[in-house]
Amino acid sequence: MTDAKVSALHEKPGCAIPASPPDAQRAPKHKPILSPTQFTEGILKGDRSLLARAITLIESSRPADREIAEQIIDKCLPSSGNSIRVGITGVPGTGKSSLIEALGKHLITERGENLAVLAIDPSSQISGGSILGDKTRMAFIASSDRAFIRPTPSRRAHGGVAPHTREAIVLCEAGGYQNILVETVGVGQSEAAVRDMVDFFLLITLAGAGDELQGIKRGVMEMADVVAVNKADSDNIPAADRARIEAESALHFLPLSRSGWMPRAMTCSAWTNRGVAELWSCILEYVTCTKANGWFERRRAEQTRHALHENLEQGLMQLFCSDPAVQKRLAELEGHVLAGQISALAAARHLLALYRESGRWR
Ligand code: GDP
Repeated sequence: MTDAKVSALHEKPGCAIPASPPDAQRAPKHKPILSPTQFTEGILKGDRSLLARAITLIESSRPADREIAEQIIDKCLPSSGNSIRVGITGVPGTGKSSLIEALGKHLITERGENLAVLAIDPSSQISGGSILGDKTRMAFIASSDRAFIRPTPSRRAHGGVAPHTREAIVLCEAGGYQNILVETVGVGQSEAAVRDMVDFFLLITLAGAGDELQGIKRGVMEMADVVAVNKADSDNIPAADRARIEAESALHFLPLSRSGWMPRAMTCSAWTNRGVAELWSCILEYVTCTKANGWFERRRAEQTRHALHENLEQGLMQLFCSDPAVQKRLAELEGHVLAGQISALAAARHLLALYRESGRWR
């Protein structure tokens, strides 16, 4: 979701979207400082403003904020895990935001459920945030008290995904959200990272997409549990049907997924709602199938293990790079490696030895 889309949502009266100001502005000048317990109690009671503030703390780079955030996450953890987590990807313009609006409407009005949307905001990375158009496509869910929408900046992101989306999911689940939709940047970079934090991965595509799109699609096709050909409305229905058949046959050539689920291709229209209910039924079918064969829980356990290792790697890298001895030599050795005077392997070994000798790691 672009800045423009987000600010449009902010302007709506009663909109649930919290602002995410820079760290310097986050100091709770007017708001009382709450304890992690107060935050947690509020989140568990469904207080969306406290949920939003807690996510802001997670995203903060201030150590004091991070410390409170970690305590809140720990306290919320026992109440998390009860949602269906769906990742939604597709290149800009395929209709991700519109389809989220349509799915959200279906969940709220037809199923009486609620949802949280964590939209990764690409504005900092891609053409100043102008890639997705300038109007909100989530007007209905943005004004519903059964939806929580949170744009997440993708700065510092691994492959374009907001660094703390995983923790935000935990807090949303503790807040009682039954369905969590994570919308990706959608430029072929963030999919793997999002795949690692969701149960189900939806790839949105279009009929008659060019080679460039097909190239991106091939890369993410293997991760998709469903490929949805969107904009299957009016004159475009026959083309969308053909694209669905092509996608279906492409899926058949992929290696069988470990989940035991056979990925499918479907058509839908976020405008007319054609196929939207069927799309959600398919997601529910996936959940039932993978819960029955044990994959659902196994996959979540794998994801948690992966998150632990990822955090460890990041933490170790931070420790390493902030070591004065390493800092002194790093640029120099980098130069030698680039000039072909020393191998990357030898340079890394040398730097690690320096780090060990500096004794800061003890
Ligand atoms: P995103 O960039 O993937 O989030 O795509 P958007 O939801 O912003 O939609 C991009 C454009 O496609 C907008 O002009 C939408 O109105 C349009 N659009 C989205 N869904 C549909 C659909 O189902 N049918 C048609 N005809 N247009 C759609």
